[in-house]
Amino acid sequence: METYTDQQATPGFRAEFLRTLERLEDIRWWMAPSHGVIHIRVPCPYCGWAEKRADRTKLAHLDEDGATFTAVCFDHGTYEVHIDPEDDQPYLDLATLYRNLVKERTVGRDGQTLHVMMKGGDWAFGCQLVDGALGALNTPPAHIPIRIFTPQVLAPTGAKLSKSLLREQGKGALPADVEPWMLDTTAWPGSIDNYVDSLVWMVSELLTDPKHFFRSFTVKELGRLMTQRPAEPVVRAHEMGIYKRYFDLIAAGRKTTEIRVNDSSRRKIKEGSLIRFRCQGDEVVTRVTRVTRYDTFDEMFDHEEVASVNPLATRDEQLANIRQIYPPEREALGVVALGIELVDPPRTA
Ligand SMILES: [Zn+2]
Repeated sequence: METYTDQQATPGFRAEFLRTLERLEDIRWWMAPSHGVIHIRVPCPYCGWAEKRADRTKLAHLDEDGATFTAVCFDHGTYEVHIDPEDDQPYLDLATLYRNLVKERTVGRDGQTLHVMMKGGDWAFGCQLVDGALGALNTPPAHIPIRIFTPQVLAPTGAKLSKSLLREQGKGALPADVEPWMLDTTAWPGSIDNYVDSLVWMVSELLTDPKHFFRSFTVKELGRLMTQRPAEPVVRAHEMGIYKRYFDLIAAGRKTTEIRVNDSSRRKIKEGSLIRFRCQGDEVVTRVTRVTRYDTFDEMFDHEEVASVNPLATRDEQLANIRQIYPPEREALGVVALGIELVDPPRTA
C-alpha cells in the first residue's frame, strides 16, 4: 500500500507535476472550476506550515531544472521552495483534483501494468473534471486508467458516512443505526461462519447487477441486508454468469459439460467444487465432476462429447458461437472443460 505522501515524493510524480505547470492555463478551470486558481501548497521550510488556499504562493520560475515557488509564512516571512524530480525534500500538497490528475498521468505512462483506480461513488463528479484536464493535456485514451466506483455508505441523514469523523471522535460519533459489528466484526451476533456467510451473500447480491454499484446504501439498509438474508444455508460456490439458452440446458440437466477459458479464476476450480450459474435473476448450483484442460477449442471438441456441451448445436456451430464469446487472445489462455451435475433445483431470486 502506498500513501499520497509516498507517491508525491517519487521522481515520476514530481516530473509529471512539473510538466503540468507548463500547461496551467489549459487546466486551471478544470482543476478549480469555481475560481480558476489552482492551489499548490508548499510548506514553510522552518515550521512546515502552508497556506490552505495558497493565496501568496507564486510560481516564480520554471525551467528544465525544476520549479521555484515563493510563498509567505505568517511566522517566518517570505520563503522559497524548489521542486525537481531528483530532490524529494519539500512536501507537495496538491488539492484533491490536482493530485489525482498528476497521479493518473503518472501511472498512465506505465505501459506494462494495467492500473485500476478504486474510488467511492462520490468521486464520480470529480473524475469528470480530471477527465477534462486529461483531455486538455492531450492525454492518449489508452493512458487513462480504468476506474471502478464503489457504492457510497450513507449515514441515516443521507450524508456520506464520515470515516475521518469516526477516526477522530471514535464510537461516540456513530450515528444511530450503525450496528456495533459494522466497525468491530467481533461484535457480530453470531458465529464467524455465519458472519462470513452473510458477507458473502450480500456481496453476491450486489454483484448480480452492475447498477448496484452506482447506488448509495445507508448503514440501516446495509444492516438490514446483512441480518435479513434468506434463512437457507449459503452454498459457497464459484459464481458464473451464463447466457439464457445455456442456463436453461444446465437447469434441465441436458448440458453436462461447461466450457471456459482457463483464466485465473477458473484455475481454482477442482473436482468437487460447486459452481453457481446465474442468469437474469435465476440461479442453479452444480457440482464439478471432472476438470479437463486443453490448448484450444478444437482440441477440446476432439475429446469432449459435443452433445454434452450443447445438445442443440453441431460442433461447427458451437465453435463459431464460442469464438464469438472468446477472442483469440482469451483462447490463448487455454481451455477448460468442466463436467457438471445438478445439486439443487433452480430457484428464482
Ligand atoms: Zn514558517
